[in-house]
Amino acid sequence: MFDLNTILRPHIITLTPYSSARDEYTGKEGIFLDANENAFGSTIDGSASEDHYNRYPDPHQQAIKAKLAPIKGVRPTQIFIGNGSDEPIDLLVRATCTPGSDSILILPPTYGMYEVSAAINDVQLIKVPLTTDFQIDVPVVLAAIQPRTKLLFVCSPNNPTGNLIDREAIITLLTHFNGLVVVDEAYIDFADTESFTALLDQYPNLVVLQTFSKAWGLAALRSGMCFASEALIEVLNKIKPPYNVSGPTQQLLLKALNQVPAKDAMVSQILAQREELIAKLLNLPLVRHVYPSDANFILVKFDDPKAVFDYLIDQQIIVRDRHRVKLCEGCLRITVGTPSENEQVLAMLKTYANHLTTTV
Ligand SMILES: *Cc1c(COP(=O)(O)O)cnc(C)c1O
Repeated sequence: MFDLNTILRPHIITLTPYSSARDEYTGKEGIFLDANENAFGSTIDGSASEDHYNRYPDPHQQAIKAKLAPIKGVRPTQIFIGNGSDEPIDLLVRATCTPGSDSILILPPTYGMYEVSAAINDVQLIKVPLTTDFQIDVPVVLAAIQPRTKLLFVCSPNNPTGNLIDREAIITLLTHFNGLVVVDEAYIDFADTESFTALLDQYPNLVVLQTFSKAWGLAALRSGMCFASEALIEVLNKIKPPYNVSGPTQQLLLKALNQVPAKDAMVSQILAQREELIAKLLNLPLVRHVYPSDANFILVKFDDPKAVFDYLIDQQIIVRDRHRVKLCEGCLRITVGTPSENEQVLAMLKTYANHLTTTV
C-alpha cells in the first residue's frame, strides 16, 4: 500500500513553510504596506493595469489553475505550476530523497534532467535500460527497485526516442511500486492517447508532468505543470520558492489558456509536417532508419551520424546529436520545423549525400 508519509523525507513532513505576505492577506483591495514593495510603481510601468510590475504575484497562481483545471480535467488543488517542469522534477527529488541514501530509478535512454537532478541532490541513480524497442522491461524494473527507491521516472512519449510507453506497463508499475511514479508527458499533445491525469484519483502515487514549452510554444516563459494528489501538491507548495512563477509569466499563461484552439491548430500543423518529414527522410539512401514518433521530433539513424551532424552545423542547421547515447547509436534527433525549415534540412541531407558519392 502506498503511504505518502513513508515516501517523504521526515523533516519535510514537519517543515513549517515560509509564509509570504500574500499568503497572509489574500484580498485584492487595500493599502498594501506588508511586503516592502515600491508603492510608487516601477521604472517600467505602463498605463494599463497589467503593465504594473511593482507588486509580488499570486504565489499560488490561482487564476491559472482555475482556467487550467477544466482544460485538463483535474481539480485546481491537483495542480502545481513550476518554473519549467524542471522545477517540479527537482522539488520531487528534494521532497522524497535523503541525499546519500535514497535513490530514484530511470529508464534510459531518456530525458537528462532526472539524472542531473539526482546528481545535484546527491541521490543515487538506478538505471534500467528500455528494451531495444524502447519499452519498459517491467520484471527487470520491479527487481531493480530498492527499499530506499522513492521515485521512478517514466517519460512518455519518451525523449529522445519519440515513442509512447506502453500504458499497461506504467499501470503495472503504479500498482507494484510503493514510491512515486512520475509520468513525464512533455510531448503528450503530439500523441494520439489519453493523458495519465485521468488516473490521478485512482493512483495516489501517480505524478504527471506536462509543460508549456512544447505544444503551447512558450519555452521562453519557463512554465511547467505538475499534476498529483492534493496531499503531494501541498508538499510541493510548501517547499517551492514562494513566488516561483513571475507576474508577467502568469499574465501570459492566462492569455495562452484562452487560446486552446490556436495551440491545437499548431499541433495539427506540426503533426502533418512530422508525417511528411518522416516520409521524405525514408526516401533518402543516407538514412538507415527512422523511428516512429509520437512527439514533435524524430529520431533518425545514419551510417555516419557525426559527419552528418557536422555537415548540418556547417550549414547552420542544428539538430541534436544522440549517437553516443546507448540504444541510440547512430542517431540524430531532429525537431519538426516549419515546412520551409524541413525542406532545407532535407535539401542539405541530399546535398551531403551527393557530395559523398562525388568525392569517394
Ligand atoms: C522539453 C522537456 C521538458 C520540458 O521542460 P521545461 O522545463 O518545462 O521547459 C520536460 N520533460 C521532457 C522529457 C522534455 O523533453
